[in-house]
Amino acid sequence: MFALTVDSAKQFARDRFQKTAIVLAATSALAWLPNLAPVAAQSKPNLPKIPIVREELTPQELTVYERAEADLPEDYYILYRIVELMARVNDLDDLPWRVAISTVDEESGDCINAFASQANLIYFCKGMLDRLAGDVSAVACVVGHEMAHHQLQHIPTGVAAWDKGFEEIEKIEDEEDRQERIEAFIEQMEELSRTQELEADAMGYQYATAAGFEPEGCLRVMRVLSRLPGSLIERSHPTAPARIEAIQGLIEASSSATIEVTTIDRTDNLEPLTYSWLEEEKLLRVDSDRGGSFVEDWENRFGQNSEEGEDPVVETVSTSQ
Ligand SMILES: [Zn+2]
Repeated sequence: MFALTVDSAKQFARDRFQKTAIVLAATSALAWLPNLAPVAAQSKPNLPKIPIVREELTPQELTVYERAEADLPEDYYILYRIVELMARVNDLDDLPWRVAISTVDEESGDCINAFASQANLIYFCKGMLDRLAGDVSAVACVVGHEMAHHQLQHIPTGVAAWDKGFEEIEKIEDEEDRQERIEAFIEQMEELSRTQELEADAMGYQYATAAGFEPEGCLRVMRVLSRLPGSLIERSHPTAPARIEAIQGLIEASSSATIEVTTIDRTDNLEPLTYSWLEEEKLLRVDSDRGGSFVEDWENRFGQNSEEGEDPVVETVSTSQ
């Protein structure tokens, strides 16, 4: 094991806790592999799109979903539908969500991962979507996992724990003691990270199944992850078999109804959440239940401009009769 200095351990912490990934980043393991194009991509037949003849509707007449389907690239359209449904049904629509898809991971050329990062950003590597192609329940499970990291505040919790740990370590003067403490501390933090990953798996499962996605979608994600080089190494993430076992436990529990299934009443929350494509950042924003317009929110609260500034109409009642 290479000698851990405070700085290298800090770098590890910064890398690990600024964003939480669904799998242990396997970049190091992949670096020596020749840049193999994914088999699936090579053999995917190029089927002609069957044009759907639709009466020409004005943008206003199109539903939000129809507009999104027309506007957005397919991957972003389906992520909009999944995030929109899961946010609305699980009451996670008080804040906007942002979705980004990266194409290539510089280091390995093919990234099979997803991250929760910044505030409410869900970041997909193209490689992950490719491995789950055609399976919205599996993608919904990954979305739920990352939403759970945000909801459970795993990133700030991790960063705060690292900060506190380093403060203590930096006070240790004896070099050998400090070395020992750093190694013990990293193990401790990896355990925290594994706990967070299992929490995110469980809550992500709840979010996805409450929104109507297949429970087995989560098993299919784990099966993909179980084929990655690092999946049997327990470090910042539990091993894939341990995660599969945990999800199987959730499926059995919910099917034998030993745990209360969160059947959220969807009837009162049917209004679709709108979306915005942020060209500059190349990412999609799924708006909160307030919509994405400051002006509209202002007018909802304070009325439209025309009403503003005018003295309120005071009705005068004549008492002369
Ligand atoms: Zn995660």
